[in-house]
Amino acid sequence: TQLPADPNLENSRRQVTNACFSYVSPRKTSNPKLLHVSPEMLNNLGLTKKDAESQDFLNVMTGNMVLKNTTPYAMCYAGHQFGNWAGQLGDGRAINLFEIEHEHQNWVVQLKGAGETPYSRSADGLAVLRSSIREYLCSEAMYYLGVPTTRALSLALTGDNVLRDVMYDGHPEYEKGAIVSRVSPSFLRFGSFEIFAARQDHKNLKILVDFTIKEHFPHLGAPSKDTYIRFFSEVCTLTLEMIIHWQRVGFVHGVMNTDNMSILGLTIDYGPYGWLEGFDYGWTPNTTDRQHKRYRYGNQPNIGLWNLYQLANALYPLIEDAESMEAILESYTTDFETQSLAMMRDKLGLQSENASDVLLIQALEDVLQLTETDMTIFFRQLSKFKPQHPSEGLHLVNDAFYDPITLSDHIKGQWNAWFERYAERLLTEALSNSERVSKMNAVNPKYVLRNYMAQLAIDAADKGEYALIDDLFIMLKKPYDEQPEYEQWFAKRPEWARDKVGCSM
Ligand code: AMP
Ligand code: MG
Ligand code: MG
Repeated sequence: TQLPADPNLENSRRQVTNACFSYVSPRKTSNPKLLHVSPEMLNNLGLTKKDAESQDFLNVMTGNMVLKNTTPYAMCYAGHQFGNWAGQLGDGRAINLFEIEHEHQNWVVQLKGAGETPYSRSADGLAVLRSSIREYLCSEAMYYLGVPTTRALSLALTGDNVLRDVMYDGHPEYEKGAIVSRVSPSFLRFGSFEIFAARQDHKNLKILVDFTIKEHFPHLGAPSKDTYIRFFSEVCTLTLEMIIHWQRVGFVHGVMNTDNMSILGLTIDYGPYGWLEGFDYGWTPNTTDRQHKRYRYGNQPNIGLWNLYQLANALYPLIEDAESMEAILESYTTDFETQSLAMMRDKLGLQSENASDVLLIQALEDVLQLTETDMTIFFRQLSKFKPQHPSEGLHLVNDAFYDPITLSDHIKGQWNAWFERYAERLLTEALSNSERVSKMNAVNPKYVLRNYMAQLAIDAADKGEYALIDDLFIMLKKPYDEQPEYEQWFAKRPEWARDKVGCSM
């Protein structure tokens, strides 16, 4: 690799053609302080706790030191944002530091919030403590939930203030700057491929696709049209699997633009995401998307497909076989139906397949939306249901209702009718009640990063108290376990936190 001829060009904003990245220098921070380091991620990278306590670690993870023989870079990509072509985007506030190979796995280590890059457009390249805590905690929580995701290594304060326009009153306000170091086998996105196709730069498109396959999909074989078709097919499969997991745990990404879609099918870019509290297909955490609700919970699978169409368009010049590509895209829809049904059967503890399950599940989704019903608590409590006593169902899930007192007789009647159906169905199963409990508890998490929990950690951190970050971090490592010491977090969102979902910047 060659360093740029004119170092002054490094971080200046510009259109970058003929390249998929630019060398950059992280910005120096005035008074960096590590708030948290993930012991598991350290271990994955072959680092020790002692390494993490060194001054070098702090300096590297906050932009104050660039390791010898490494060349930090920001990636150039484009994307469709909210359905519209947005042109060149790129890592506006992310800087890739280096790659570490450990135990046959390669990891790219990247700083988020380390200053401007050629792709920062009109923004500052910085991140605030609020959004950094949200990304740090959520990406690790997702990993332990079994959802494919990018990871986080460290969370640090920079000691610098960052100017943010606070939306609700329009007055600019300073917030504490922070940097998350995040880690992934690759940060390539759909948009990384779209940019070359849009510029009709098929030469570099091919170089990038060949690189991606060689590095991340080597089993697909040497470059050829057939290999590219298999590559596209595999990305479709991985993307769908990821989204089915989101639906299972009630994660709403909030900004599924194609620049936020990982080519490895990993959850990436934890911005305005949120967790479903009341089960509601129409809910989105993204306050800038409240009108069209493009990225609402129930629409995530459709958007996944829409985004894959954009990727198909981007890869088309290398494949030129519309029929094969369309067949793959069509199978996404049928695969979604099959996998979504299988996922819901798991959530309900159904082992066998019965043709009527679709109707049972639809009926549940309808009744869940009659009143505000907490998704996590509902499914967790449901494992206690005994088909021998269907009339106890409603009582078992009572804690899931945001307002149990106002449940009308009509709604109670609908619930009891559903529990009757569910009981009948369970009686056709071979599993014992206790076997079913453990199977259901392995797919229905007890602890998720509820929006208000992240908010409490943020409020405390603003006052210089960081214990809650560690507490939540530890709890979220075992989301499926009973953790009596954390029982307080198995609770509905408190009323003050209604609609408090944090923000992306
Ligand atoms: P996002 O909605 O987070 O995916 O951001 C869209 C684009 O804006 C990406 O290219 C980001 O890198 C960029 N961006 C977001 N926030 C900032 C920021 N504070 N400074 C510079 N670029 C940003
Ligand atoms: Mg992004
Ligand atoms: Mg973002």
